[in-house]
Amino acid sequence: MPDILVVGSLNMDLIVRTPRLPAPGETILGTQFSTAPGGKGANQAVAAAKLGAPVKMIGRVGADDFGKALRSHLNAVGVDTQYVTQDTEAATGIASIWVDDKGQNSIIVAPGANARVARADIDAAAVAFRDARIVVAQLEIPLETVQYAFQLARKNNCLTILNPAPAQPLSRKILEQCDVVIPNEMETAQLTGMDAHDLESAQNAANVLKQMGARRVLVTLGDKGALFLDGDAPAQPIPPFRVQAVDTTAAGDAFVGALAAALARDKDWTTSLREASAAGALAATKLGAQPSLPTRAELDAFLSRSL
Ligand code: ADP
Repeated sequence: MPDILVVGSLNMDLIVRTPRLPAPGETILGTQFSTAPGGKGANQAVAAAKLGAPVKMIGRVGADDFGKALRSHLNAVGVDTQYVTQDTEAATGIASIWVDDKGQNSIIVAPGANARVARADIDAAAVAFRDARIVVAQLEIPLETVQYAFQLARKNNCLTILNPAPAQPLSRKILEQCDVVIPNEMETAQLTGMDAHDLESAQNAANVLKQMGARRVLVTLGDKGALFLDGDAPAQPIPPFRVQAVDTTAAGDAFVGALAAALARDKDWTTSLREASAAGALAATKLGAQPSLPTRAELDAFLSRSL
């Protein structure tokens, strides 16, 4: 099977549970602390690898314990990390996440080494682009690097998938390099200035993204499923699977990773989108990011139950 290349971020999530969020200058006692591997790039790489796809990750970590831990987490699920560079001048990216008893959270992301993923990292992985079928990127690394990676991807006839998260203004040049752009509701609104909370409004916003240069647009709408706009064909609703949602963290990452994994296995768009939707739904049924991403066996069992 040809490879999936994920160009993106690796973060260690540092999660503190607390009765309430502190005021500026205040110190309070929290209740629980835990760490978890994250970063949208790593999550999407793990999502595809857990579904059996051969995945290589391109990114950067610091020369520190978090970097080592993130690398070994990726290796444990079968992601090839030979193109994850150790940066001696920046720390591994972290997300400091405070969650209060009401479930509200405050998050600070310190991108660290992720902000330094550069052209040189793409050039160093040039051979991997030759063996790849699909290149996936998000926006937690410099946009300029994503653009450079997609140029190389297209030269090598790879399909390019952009998950524009977190959203930032995108030029026609970058959008034209994307075979598929996958924003969620909020990112769609930020990119287009238009509301996208249901199929109808998502369709209008997707049309705007198409006018901005995107070839295919896939707006994810949480428990309302997704909307797929492929060139000039009529927009297609992707129905949601009905599940008991517990925590929707990483549903989007599961969706993107599963779509890449299915397309890499030569599945058609209809089948691939169904698998992506199922993976997103399954991720919403479990707590956390990477632990909630379904395995091949879990996804197949769920799909056959849902026939
Ligand atoms: P993000 O995590 O990026 O905000 P979404 O919440 O839109 O992304 O979720 C991505 C996809 O996962 C959705 O398009 C849908 O297919 C699936 N999904 C997410 N939440 C649910 C849910 N509660 N029930 C069913 N499917 C869901």
